[in-house]
Amino acid sequence: MTALPAVGTGAPPRGDFESRAREASGGIVPLVPAAERDRRFPREAVALLGAAGLLRERWAAPDASLGVVLCEELGVAGASGVGLGVSVHAEAALSMLARFARTPLLRSVLEDALDGRNLVAVAASEAASGSDLAGIETVVSESGGGLTVRGQKRYVSLGVSADHLLVSCRSAVKSTESTTPRLSLVLVPRDDVKIEKQLETVGVRATETARVTIDARVPREAMLGRPGAGMLALSYGLTHERLATAALTIGTCRLALGLASAHLEGRRVRAEPLITRQAPRFLLAAHAAHVDVLRRSAHSLATMPLGSSRGMRDVAGLKVTAAQVGERVLSDCMHLFGGAGYLEDETPLARLWRDVRAARVGGGTDEMMLELVAGGLVPATEAYASMVRIPS
Ligand SMILES: Cc1cc2nc3c(=O)[nH]c(=O)nc-3n(C[C@H](O)[C@H](O)[C@H](O)COP(=O)(O)OP(=O)(O)OC[C@H]3O[C@@H](n4cnc5c(N)ncnc54)[C@H](O)[C@@H]3O)c2cc1C
Repeated sequence: MTALPAVGTGAPPRGDFESRAREASGGIVPLVPAAERDRRFPREAVALLGAAGLLRERWAAPDASLGVVLCEELGVAGASGVGLGVSVHAEAALSMLARFARTPLLRSVLEDALDGRNLVAVAASEAASGSDLAGIETVVSESGGGLTVRGQKRYVSLGVSADHLLVSCRSAVKSTESTTPRLSLVLVPRDDVKIEKQLETVGVRATETARVTIDARVPREAMLGRPGAGMLALSYGLTHERLATAALTIGTCRLALGLASAHLEGRRVRAEPLITRQAPRFLLAAHAAHVDVLRRSAHSLATMPLGSSRGMRDVAGLKVTAAQVGERVLSDCMHLFGGAGYLEDETPLARLWRDVRAARVGGGTDEMMLELVAGGLVPATEAYASMVRIPS
């Protein structure tokens, strides 16, 4: 009996970046067990990516294709928990720094990050404003040529291991003209951040998430872009994170489908491999087809301008679809292993299933993604007038 066709072999070649990203991901995999146990992102992972030149090369590229390749490879290798931290740092944070950093301070942080020498987290969500970032209460004020940032952030991935946090904040003076505060982004050193609690997440345990309090005094140069222009930068960073999350999910699905196919090849029922039974065979085939469509879509979207409203909307549509398909694929692959799929020490399926579930929330929930997609719905008014005959 032949195995199911390999999922997604049709993406265009990207020189040797893909094979080097695969090799680096293979080097990150041995770091996963300790990171999961300690619930701490392994700094060696970004050091390894930096030393391999992958981060610098990724950000020298004109589009996000190499970011998609890297995150997908991390998923295929089984490093989805570390992949969350990589997607926050190397995609969300570095996209914002690469595009908006103008001051020597911010540029030097970016340069070090590209060599894998530092780690940057993104602190946006607060207790009362996760989905609604306009409700942010962390405040930045200016005095004596410096900035003071004060507030609390509810969920910060890499919150303990990062060197810096890109913090979203509003001006201390509330506008009388608008109820929506204009946000700014300020780079705050981790030393000025107090860890209130490391959170007990269901999955992605190889990247810690922390609740933090910020009370920082930083130079004026730590502000990213113009004061009040933070929402633009944050949307840009989140779009990169969402695309990376989709790629990571797609890679994890490819791994799970491959593992389930291999298991069903070897597992026999009445002397016949289980893969010959139509139910599991078609279940895997249907999932493989969906994942392949998502994969091609991710690679294609990566070449679009992600700062445009069309780019943000399309990436939101991809992210919500990948997250929902990913949850089903992982659950079914786990199921196809029978009891062993549910055992933490016999298969990695439970870990991968928990990791993939985070994609429905991280970087914006399914509903927030659908809200963005809904903004692009276009009524077919002319076709409606000519084709629909509903008596009034
Ligand atoms: C593991 C983990 C890591 C994270 N890492 C980070 C990080 O590094 N940086 C960061 O800034 N944040 C991070 N977050 C926060 C994450 O982005 C938020 O949890 C998420 O955006 C949802 O916000 P919330 O938790 O406040 O939920 P809420 O906004 O309270 O939403 C609750 C539910 O209501 C729905 N909902 C909310 N508003 C609407 C609406 N208008 N219409 C319809 N439905 C709605 C939501 O979709 C959701 O299902 C992380 C979260 C987790 C779990």
